[in-house]
Amino acid sequence: MKYSSLLALCLTALLAASCSQGPEKQKTKFVSVGTGGVTGVYYPTGGAICRLVNQGRKEHGIRCSVESTGGSVYNTNSIDGGELDVGIAQADVAYKAWNGEAPFKKKMTKLRSLFAMHPESVSLVARKDANIKNIADMRGKKINLGNPGSGNARTSSELLEACGIAISDLALAGRLKAVEMPDALRDNKLDGYFYVVGHPTANIKDIATSTPIELVNINSDCIDKLIDGREYYVKTEIPAGMYNGVDTATQTYGVKATLVTSSDLGEDTAYKIVKSVFDNLDNFKSLHPAINNLTPKSMLEGLTAPIHAGAMKYYKEKGWK
Ligand code: GLU
Repeated sequence: MKYSSLLALCLTALLAASCSQGPEKQKTKFVSVGTGGVTGVYYPTGGAICRLVNQGRKEHGIRCSVESTGGSVYNTNSIDGGELDVGIAQADVAYKAWNGEAPFKKKMTKLRSLFAMHPESVSLVARKDANIKNIADMRGKKINLGNPGSGNARTSSELLEACGIAISDLALAGRLKAVEMPDALRDNKLDGYFYVVGHPTANIKDIATSTPIELVNINSDCIDKLIDGREYYVKTEIPAGMYNGVDTATQTYGVKATLVTSSDLGEDTAYKIVKSVFDNLDNFKSLHPAINNLTPKSMLEGLTAPIHAGAMKYYKEKGWK
């Protein structure tokens, strides 16, 4: 076929398509959700959010896609820079972003919350044979603190500082990504790794089935001092029996995972995202065991950045705000 006739054919097809759809047909709005490593809880939870949003795509025209990323700090920075529309971030990280505290260089005034999700525990996964019974035992050990951009790296560095442990006190301060940590522990390249994560997580289930592990209690006095006055942190425990061979509860502290965005996200889009989740809350909760205790009340608590206007509209309609 000659090029000109092909072009004419394409134009006719395009016109026919747009005419049959009618002038009111809305443009697709793409929304990207930044999460974490694929074996964590952020990634499947972000997937669950997108699944619910995409179910209503015909009515609202939003197409949601989930991205595996470096974690909370990366997500927050990328939302501020406009590369991500929405992301999951630890409430401590969102707090620091909103207030312009390290690792952030300036106040992220556009940062907004949509809702809070599961509690994440500061978890120190250690090889049983490494004999790490408390925070102080980390001295001289190979410990993964977290990849740059992760909430793990942020929270674990803060913990070390609060407990007077210098990086140079460790035999190794690892920067591996969350997906790489279990293999490194199994291969003895690490004695332990930090993971600020909801439970249960595939990441720890995986290592616990092949290597004897311990979840170290993180409840020394320095932790009490660290939590004191930082209301986004709470004392928490990782229940017994979540992972193969871990038969007692682990005492630690934790923070909420929160869904955040920018004030640049349209009110209508934010409204539809939260509506898709809350109108289908039972379905949402059934999509991952770490989120199955969520309630509308808990999902509006523990937010450290102001609520987005579009989300607020939905909460007011429901009488929750
Ligand atoms: N809290 C972790 C972080 O921000 C991610 C946890 C997860 O992926 O579930 O680095």
